[in-house]
Order: sequence, then C-alpha cells, then structure tokens
Amino acid sequence: MLNLFLPERCIHCEHPTESSRSKNAKHRLSRYLCPVCLRILEFHEAPPEPFIRDQFELIAPSGTFSEVYGGHWFVQESPMQSIIHSFKYAGMPRLAVAFGRQLGEEFALESKLIIPVPLHRTRRAERGYNQAEMLAKGIQERRGWQIVPALRRTRATPSQTQLSVPERIENMRGAFALTRHAADIQDKHILLVDDVMTTGSTLASAAEALLAARPKSISTLTLAVVQK
Ligand SMILES: [Zn+2]
Repeated sequence: MLNLFLPERCIHCEHPTESSRSKNAKHRLSRYLCPVCLRILEFHEAPPEPFIRDQFELIAPSGTFSEVYGGHWFVQESPMQSIIHSFKYAGMPRLAVAFGRQLGEEFALESKLIIPVPLHRTRRAERGYNQAEMLAKGIQERRGWQIVPALRRTRATPSQTQLSVPERIENMRGAFALTRHAADIQDKHILLVDDVMTTGSTLASAAEALLAARPKSISTLTLAVVQK
C-alpha cells in the first residue's frame, strides 16, 4: 500500500515540516524535510564529476559515459540516507518525483532521452513503483524530455550491500536486456537515471546493454553518490 499522505514530520529527524504549518509551501521538498535537514542537503556540495568518472574507470570501458552527474553525496545517518530509505521502504513515489524535479533544474544537461534503471518486475510489484522511474518523471516535468523504457531487468539480482566491487560486477553481469523500445535510442543522446550510485556496477551493466542499441552517447545522473 502506497503512502500517499504527506508526512507531517521530517522523514529524517521527525521535527515538524514547514508544510504542516503552512498549506502554501513553495518548495515541494519542504513537505518532506524540515528546514534544518533541507539546509544540510544544500550545504553538502554535489559530488564532483571527476570522482564519479574515476569510479567508472575502475569498472567500465573507457569512454562508455559522456557526462556523469550526481545530485548529492550519500552520507550514512544523513537526510539523504532517510530519503533513499523512504523511496525503498516507505512508499513515497512523490518524494522521488520531487527530487527528480530538483535534478532537472540543477544540471545543465544537453537534450536527451531519459532511461530509468529498471527494477526486476517482482521487486517493482512488491514496492508498487520504481524510484528511478519517479526521478525520471520529475526530470521530465522540468525538461520535457521523453522517457524511454529501453531496458528490462532479466533477473532479480541479490542485494549488493554486502558485496565487494568484483562481486558486484559479477552480480550485475547480464542483468539487463533491451526492450522493443530500444530502437528509439539509436543515434540519440541518452540519460541513464538511478537513485544511488555505490560502485557504479549497476549503471555500467545497464550501459553495456544499451550500447547494443547504438545510442550517440550515454550520460548518467543519480540522485546520490556513495562517498568512499
Ligand atoms: Zn529534519
């Protein structure tokens, strides 16, 4: 069951949100996070592109990705951890859309087709939605770009949290296949969207599958990037 009611309290620290006091909150994110936690998010600078590029250098053929962007650092015990947790376990698709809008506003990206990293259908059914699709929707609302479901997950990959980098790469190998919509991405600039980048193995595996459809370029944008 999705929680479609707006929380009265901050999803991170449980202090009252602005929207519980004012019905006219301008900032959609202020419905979910208190002013202090919002400021913490704004205070942390976005992960720099060279950091993300270095991660991909370890696991993907050089030149796989054109632009690589991350919205926020994923820090343990931080508001961002609560946000990602809420996507996954608290049924908050609208929170993901709200962050997608923010990402769409923040990054000066070239015009692209958006491809959300898919979940396996059983996991998507359990959760009721795919948070990467919700982020993509938010980006679409801001930029007007088309979302193309060009990928599907071929198997339910086990949780990666306990795995080393080589194990993650092995775990993700062949985890994605093209759908019939993949024909639409030939010679197009595409933007692969996901919620969290840890080692980049999921994005690298998704990109490997997409390359067979001959896009002009593949860029990535994740809401959060794990700091190591
Ligand atoms: Zn808070």
